[in-house]
Amino acid sequence: MYDVINPATEKLFKTIEHLDLAGTDAVIAKAEMAFDSWRHVAPGDRGKMLRRFAEVVAEHKEELAQLEIANSGHTRGNALWEVDNVVNVLTYYSAAPERLFGRQIPVPGGIDVTFKEPLGVIGVIVPWNFPMPIAGWGFAPALAAGNTVVLKPAEYTPLTAMKLGELALIAGIPEGVFNVLPGKGSVIGARFVTHPAVRKVVFTGSTEVGKSIMAGCADQVKRVTLELGGKSSNIIFADADIAKAAATAPGSVFDNAGQDCCARSRILIQKSAFDKFMEHFEVAVKKFRVEDPSLATADMGPLISKKQFDSVQTFLDEPVAFTGSAPSGDGYWMAPTVLLPKNTQARSWREEVFGPVVSVMTFEDEAEAIAMANDSEYGLSGSIWTRDVGRALRVSRAIETGNLSVNSHSSVRFWTPFGGFKQSGLGRELGPDALDSFTEVKNVFISND
Ligand code: NAD
Repeated sequence: MYDVINPATEKLFKTIEHLDLAGTDAVIAKAEMAFDSWRHVAPGDRGKMLRRFAEVVAEHKEELAQLEIANSGHTRGNALWEVDNVVNVLTYYSAAPERLFGRQIPVPGGIDVTFKEPLGVIGVIVPWNFPMPIAGWGFAPALAAGNTVVLKPAEYTPLTAMKLGELALIAGIPEGVFNVLPGKGSVIGARFVTHPAVRKVVFTGSTEVGKSIMAGCADQVKRVTLELGGKSSNIIFADADIAKAAATAPGSVFDNAGQDCCARSRILIQKSAFDKFMEHFEVAVKKFRVEDPSLATADMGPLISKKQFDSVQTFLDEPVAFTGSAPSGDGYWMAPTVLLPKNTQARSWREEVFGPVVSVMTFEDEAEAIAMANDSEYGLSGSIWTRDVGRALRVSRAIETGNLSVNSHSSVRFWTPFGGFKQSGLGRELGPDALDSFTEVKNVFISND
């Protein structure tokens, strides 16, 4: 049994049962059985079932949002957006079964065609920071391509995923096609890696665990997609709209209490604009509302756990420029904090904090900004603020990162690709090409004879 705690109150929210190894194997066997019929469901019917699944999720929007607020401490605004994200991703990929095109390639003596074949059972391993969206980014395209899914939510945040599993059945997705297995990473997640019937692992989480999963999958040449950590830069040039860059910077790093792999947790500000930026930034940070996440006005809730809270505190031995505010009392509350690290070797500058902490440093010119931003083992996200279109293009091309946003901090869009450079990951999720990572290309030559 496992106690799920409400991070805003530290009170017990629910007790759930964790699956053991034998239980995991039984569910994988069920998913393997279901694959044979699911892959042969007519494309139009599979699409229709996924659209119905999306509708049923939408009908339970308030219930799912309430669960996420209480289980994960997400703000009401975020939780509602997250349910919508699952609905949108399901709807987007519900159009895929009828569009899973192969090719016809000219050859002498016959025809040559390619097919995109489903892989089989897909293991999706989800972290605690965005339980619903990250689950959907894995299961929706996997199901659309004709695979069946075994999904393991994070220990802290299993409740919305478990609910989505129930809603799939209500929507008419056949038994065994989409399975949610609450439990430990070291038991269930590790079994996805070693079980031969699981043909691919989609992992989102820490770089450390991601590396061990990649190593484990090598044994069976198992396909793997990894979405890992980040240390993304928000680069602001002096010619930018400084007031706007400063007003939007808190949301780009403190959203979800900074527990976001795309958090722009490094601010690089051109030296000549530093004073003006910091003046506006302080006003914006102090306005950022950290409060009961169930309130519609909340910008930020608590951290997920005492462990995460303690881990974030270890970064606070660097000079503090200013902080916002946070409630006191029960709950893992922390005020948004702005640090001024002494140099680029400072821990807060190099390591992923995964909490409401941002570090600010200055740069002289474009070349230095690019060098500073690229001086990281990560490369997931980032933002560039400038009015100079040429510079926006040059810097966008020069930054080693998978997702950039110019004069904005775009969140992940389900219809565009998402993923990391360097140690931030391997492969891409979402967008029009995600189906490629849930299928194998089969080439067939048919002779004229
Ligand atoms: P984590 O790596 O500890 O856990 C992630 C998931 O993996 C959990 O479900 C966990 O139970 C499971 N797991 C743990 N050990 C395992 C093992 N040995 N084998 C198989 N599965 C195992 O990460 P976390 O603490 O849950 O999440 C925070 C981290 O995730 C951060 O570093 C963050 O940057 C990263 N993250 C990345 C993205 C992205 O898209 N790139 C998104 C969200 C989170």
